[in-house]
Order: sequence, then C-alpha cells, then structure tokens
Amino acid sequence: MHLISIDDLSTADIETLFKLSDGFLEIASRSIKKVPTLRGRTIINVFLEPSTRTQSSFELAGKRLSADVINIKGSSSSVSKGESLKDTILTLESYRPDIIVMRHPQVGASRMATRYTSASVVNAGDGTGEHPTQCLLDLYSLRRTYGDLQGLKVAIVGDILRSRVARSNLFGFRKMGIDVRLVGPPTLMPPGIEYWDVPIYQDLAALDDVDVIYLLRMQLERARGKVPPVPSLREYSRIWGLSSLKVKPGQRVMHPGPINRGVELSGDLADDDRSLILHQVESGLAVRMAILYQCLAGSLTEESAG
Ligand code: ASP
Repeated sequence: MHLISIDDLSTADIETLFKLSDGFLEIASRSIKKVPTLRGRTIINVFLEPSTRTQSSFELAGKRLSADVINIKGSSSSVSKGESLKDTILTLESYRPDIIVMRHPQVGASRMATRYTSASVVNAGDGTGEHPTQCLLDLYSLRRTYGDLQGLKVAIVGDILRSRVARSNLFGFRKMGIDVRLVGPPTLMPPGIEYWDVPIYQDLAALDDVDVIYLLRMQLERARGKVPPVPSLREYSRIWGLSSLKVKPGQRVMHPGPINRGVELSGDLADDDRSLILHQVESGLAVRMAILYQCLAGSLTEESAG
C-alpha cells in the first residue's frame, strides 16, 4: 500500500488506522515502548526538506515497531550534488526497503517515487501538494478530544495558498463529516479555490461559531523571488494573528507546527490549555506507527504482528 494523498483512504481505512493508533498510543505509556511487529523490515526516511515533527515521529515510529530505520536528509544527501530523484530512489531500491517515507519540495515527488521502487511509499509532504499523515494525526487528535467527528465545525485559517496541510485537511476532514471553512485574506487563497466548494471568509468573525480554529504558518520560504502575499508579518499578525483573548470559551486551537509565536498566534495562546498543539504531536507518533503497520499489514504473518 502507498499513502500519497488523503484521497487514497476511505472512511473505513481511516477508522482502522484510528483503532490501530489506540493500541500504539497505549504502548507509548509503557516503560518499554517497543514491540516486535516490524522486526527485520527496513524503512528509509528520505527528507529533502526541513522537518522536526514529521521526521522525528516517523523515525521513532519505525524504531518502536523494531524496524531497521535509516534517515537520509537534504543537505547531507547526494541530491545536494545534483543526483536526480529517480537515481536516489533507484539507489535506495538496491537495499530492498519495505517502506520509503518521503518529504520533497516538489509536488508529485512521492507519486513519482512509486515508479522506481517496490517498497510502499508514504508521502510525508510534497511541496505545496499534500501532507496526508498530518491530516490523519489531526483527525486522530480530534477523535481523541471530541469522540464523534460528525458535524464538528473547524475553521482553517491563514496561508491556505502554500499549505499542503490545508489541502489534505480540507479533503480529509470533510470525508469524516467535519464541517470545514477557510478563513484568511484573499491574497492567501489559491487560484481556483472556488472549485473546492468550501465556504471562504475574509474576516476573523467567521471563527465565532466554530469548535476548532486550525491555524497555519505563514510559509515565507515558499515565496522566495515572488511578490509577498502580505505587506509584512507585523501587519499580518495585527489583523490575522490570534491571541488567547480572541478565542471563545470551549474553542480549541490546532496548528501543524512549527509555530511562529507572535505571527499567526500569540505565545500565551500556544501555551494555553485550549491549544491541542502538543496533543497533535503525541497523536502523530501513534498514527505514524499505525500507518507503517498498515503499509505492510498484508505481508505480516500473525506471529510478527503479535
Ligand atoms: N509542518 C507542516 C508541513 O510540513 C506545516 C508547516 O511547515 O508549516 O507542511
């Protein structure tokens, strides 16, 4: 099984991942946090764009499942010497990996990688394309917090234009029955958004009646060489930044990280107990263990799954 887009999964597939994640979450509370499930399997994490959470949680997830895990990172890989994606994957394929987890700056790179390997490929973020495992961990955090997802109201706020998280989450959240709206200035909305058939608001008043406010980071690193979509971060934060005072009682705040304190949210809100940010990170490890397990589930014997 590959996981390239959140659209690769049905609601039943997502429910199965939640059930597996419950078990893996329990393992994290034990003093010995390792199970033999993927013993003898090889996982290669190829991260050609910066990452803290996704890379560390995939690495730890593989290790807790007893797989052999190796990590290849951008500046230390031969990609920085001009090697093509095709040659990188063909080279890694010589080791007969079972799973390749890939982050890449280009949209479609993970899908392309599936052509050159017989391993399962997991998309850990492809440019402004998709980030399906972020969507799954966010859904799992919501499931742990609210139980039923049906009818939950979520606003995704900020830099929708360049956010792969916004794309995966919009489609994945709606698949699970969540009522999603997008909120932000028009310059941060992607062209063609009218075809996404989602309510769009240009005012923070649209947050008043939602259960969850999902904030996005301003991805200035993707704006290099282009006219910036907002005049300055200071102005953006003055108009669009969220502080704990602007969050209504009972509302929760999520963010995929890394957060920019003082830009999309204030430091006090990040640390407030209405913030699910660290809960998302905790959910991420369990969900990624479930994803790695599911990628190979068809080929695991009952003995190794024990
Ligand atoms: N960590 C998320 C991603 O990789 C969000 C972000 O970078 O702002 O897309």
